[in-house]
Amino acid sequence: MGDRERNKKRLLELLQAAGTGNAHCADGAADPDWASYKLGIFICLNCSGVHRNFPDISKVKSVRLDFWDDSIVEIAVVLQFMTRNGNLRVKAKYEARVPAFYYVPQANDCLVLKEQWIRAKYERQEFMADGKIISPPGNREGFLWKRGRDNAQFLRRRFVLLAREGLLKYYTKEEGKDPKAVISIKDLNATFQTEKIGNPHGLQITYRREGHVRNLFVYHESGKEIVDWFNALRAARLQYLKMAFPELPESELVPLITRNYLKQGFMEKTGPKQREPFKKRWFALDPQERRLLYYKNPLDAFEQGQVFLGSSEQGYQVYEDLPKGVRGNRWKAGLTMVTPQRRFVFTCPSEKEQREWLESFRDVLSRPLTPLNLLPASTESGCSR
Ligand SMILES: [Zn+2]
Repeated sequence: MGDRERNKKRLLELLQAAGTGNAHCADGAADPDWASYKLGIFICLNCSGVHRNFPDISKVKSVRLDFWDDSIVEIAVVLQFMTRNGNLRVKAKYEARVPAFYYVPQANDCLVLKEQWIRAKYERQEFMADGKIISPPGNREGFLWKRGRDNAQFLRRRFVLLAREGLLKYYTKEEGKDPKAVISIKDLNATFQTEKIGNPHGLQITYRREGHVRNLFVYHESGKEIVDWFNALRAARLQYLKMAFPELPESELVPLITRNYLKQGFMEKTGPKQREPFKKRWFALDPQERRLLYYKNPLDAFEQGQVFLGSSEQGYQVYEDLPKGVRGNRWKAGLTMVTPQRRFVFTCPSEKEQREWLESFRDVLSRPLTPLNLLPASTESGCSR
């Protein structure tokens, strides 16, 4: 057995060694087959791409595909180091005190969240037990680029978060006293929507206004700034939730802080008679509020309508296919949603989309209603906008 094979065999043994936590990516959840030999951890392919951007923090190689007899690497030292460390030990060190509000990115989250997680953890060492004391975000003030409501231009706007008051305000004039909007943290959600907004730091902030959901689309040039804003909003949300639901443990409140859409995309829909022409709309499914929102365009300020999705027990159902006699416009792959009030008919651009929507709808319908699900005044808001 050559050196290379022996070293690779040793690394594979380490990767599978019980009690090390090496079988799960140190920064996510996927199966790791990369190693950071600077940190002494095993990570997945996806996270290795993020680590590669920060050579001062991390140095990565593929366990299986790279050669481990590189002259750059003192292999004996590396193997010893990897043996001494391992994912669980390194996690215990760098994740000793991750605040409950801090958003730990998942596999399908956007790059800016993953990058800032890696940097906060290993570079700024914000979560180490003996690290610098980082004060909780609290109030925050600064400029964000905000997309105009009626044109696609992004303009610099001053945002002010008052955590204790539970308010987010923004101003159109730099010195202005009157805010353009005063948003209650109670109704606020924030979700990174980089593709939709067309910016790698694009954040969507939503809140309720007069029975509708208002969307703000913002970004900041700095990845750290936008992720700090996101976590400051999350901290304020958690503070609010703790006050609103004092009987619930923190672990049950954390998933309610902010939420991502379960699915988004274009479908075509017809009207209540199902004889109206099918029209292309952008749909977004909010699983927590159990609402399917639809828009003329993905970046509209307000939805055109919304459908409340109750549970299967209440008679809500979704079928693959169109009702007899109903024919779509351009798209053939159909879906029928039955609510106690009416039937909704959609067509999807592909069978893959149809399958994904069907699964997402069924997922929501199968969830039991919680007291947190706001009871809707009506199942579909008017199409006044
Ligand atoms: Zn990973």
